[in-house]
Amino acid sequence: SRGHVVIVGGGYGGATTAKYLRMWSKGTVDVTLIERNPAFISCPISNLVIGGIKQMEDITVGYDGLKSKWGVRLITDEVTAVDTAKRTVATARNGTLDYDRLVLSPGIDFIPDAVAGLDGNQERIPHAWKAGPQTVLLRRQLQDMADGGVFALHVPKAPYRCPPGPYERACVVADYLRRAKPRSKVLVLDANAEIQSKKALFTKAFESYGSLIEYVPNSELRGVDVATLTAELEFDSVKADVLNVIPPMRAGSIAIEAGLPLINGRWVDIDWLTMGAKGVPGVHVLGDALFPAPTMPKSGHMANQHGKVAAAAILNLFEGIAPNPAPVVMNTCYSFVDGTNVIHVASVHQYDAEKRQPMPVQGAGGVSAAASEIEGKAALAWARNIWADMLA
Ligand code: FAD
Repeated sequence: SRGHVVIVGGGYGGATTAKYLRMWSKGTVDVTLIERNPAFISCPISNLVIGGIKQMEDITVGYDGLKSKWGVRLITDEVTAVDTAKRTVATARNGTLDYDRLVLSPGIDFIPDAVAGLDGNQERIPHAWKAGPQTVLLRRQLQDMADGGVFALHVPKAPYRCPPGPYERACVVADYLRRAKPRSKVLVLDANAEIQSKKALFTKAFESYGSLIEYVPNSELRGVDVATLTAELEFDSVKADVLNVIPPMRAGSIAIEAGLPLINGRWVDIDWLTMGAKGVPGVHVLGDALFPAPTMPKSGHMANQHGKVAAAAILNLFEGIAPNPAPVVMNTCYSFVDGTNVIHVASVHQYDAEKRQPMPVQGAGGVSAAASEIEGKAALAWARNIWADMLA
C-alpha cells in the first residue's frame, strides 16, 4: 500500500473522498472511513419527508457499495479524539488508529448556549438540520398540529448549512398545510436582513402562498420558552404550535477539538489547493466545516466537489507531485417550492492564485427563470446521481 488514509464522516464530503481515493489509486491506498451512523441519510430531499411527499427510506442509502465494490474499510463508531502530532485517531469502541493522512468531513454542530433555553430540549423544539430522527420528529409534530396552528421556523445568521434550505422548508410545509390544514400559518423568523439564496424566486413563491407564509427578516432568536413554545426575539416574542429552530452552528465538534485553525472561532481555515488545514500537516478538511470561499455555499454538492479535490491532492502528495494549481469546483442547489415545482442556483468557482482561494467565475451559473416541473425531475435525478457518485 502507498499509505493509509483515515476519513472521519461518511456524509457528502467524506464518502466521496473514500470512493475516489480507492478508485483513482486502483486500490493501492488503504482507506478507513469512520462514521457514527450505520447508514447514510441525506439532508437534501429531507424537507420533502417533512412535507409528507417522501419517506425516510427514500433518503437512506447503505454503505455496502463503498465496502464491497470499492474496498473501503468501514468502522461504525464515534471518533472521540484526534492527535495531529502523533497522527492517531481515537474511537469510542474500536481503539486507536494510525494514519498517514486524515480527512475530516464532520459537517456542522450547533453552538452550545447560543439560544437560551434550547440546549437539551430539541426533542420538543427540533432543528431537523441533520437528517435522521429529527426529520421524523418534525414531520410528526407537523402532522399533529391542529388546523389554524402556527409553524414557526427560525433561520440563523449566515453562514449556515444550505443557504436555500430553510426557505425550501417553509414552502414545502406551506404546501402540505394548504392541502391538509388551510387555516394554519408558516412564520419564517430570519436572523438575516433578507432571504439568503434565490431571493426573487423565493419571494415570488412565498407570495403565491398568500397569508399562509409570513416572512419576518431581522428576527434573531435570543431564547426559547420550552413549556409554551415561545420564540423570544429582541423586541418581540412569538408563540408557536410547532417551533423549528435551526440554531447557530459551527464546524463539527471533532474539528474544533482537534485544535485546527479556525476563522471567527467557528470554521476551519484551509489551503484550498490541497484542502489541508493551515499549519497542520497531514490533515485535510472538507464541506460544511470550512470557512467558505466568497459566495461558496455550504452544500452537499460542494462537499462532494471538495472530496474530489482532496482525493486528487492526497494521491499526488503520496507520489511527491505538486497539487493541481487551478482546481475548479461547481455547485447546483435545487429547491422545491411545492411538491413538484423546483428552482435552482448554480455557480462555478476557480482557484485564484493571487487571492489563494476559489473565486466565483463571472458569467457562469445563474438561477432559474421560474419554478418548473421539469426542474422537479432534475432535482430528484440530481439526488439519485450524487448518492450513486458517493456510495455506489
Ligand atoms: P455531512 O454530510 O453532514 O457529513 C458529516 C458526517 O460526519 C455525518 O454523517 C456525521 O454523522 C459524521 N460525523 C461527525 N462527527 C463524527 C464523529 N466524531 N465520529 C463519527 N462520525 C462523525 N445540499 C445540496 O447540495 N443540495 C440540497 O438540495 C441540499 N438540501 C439540504 C436540505 C436541508 C434541509 C439541509 C439541512 C441541508 C441541505 N443541503 C443541501 C446541505 C448538505 O446537507 C450539506 O452541505 C452536506 O451534508 C455537507 O457535507 P459534509 O460532508 O460537510 O457533512
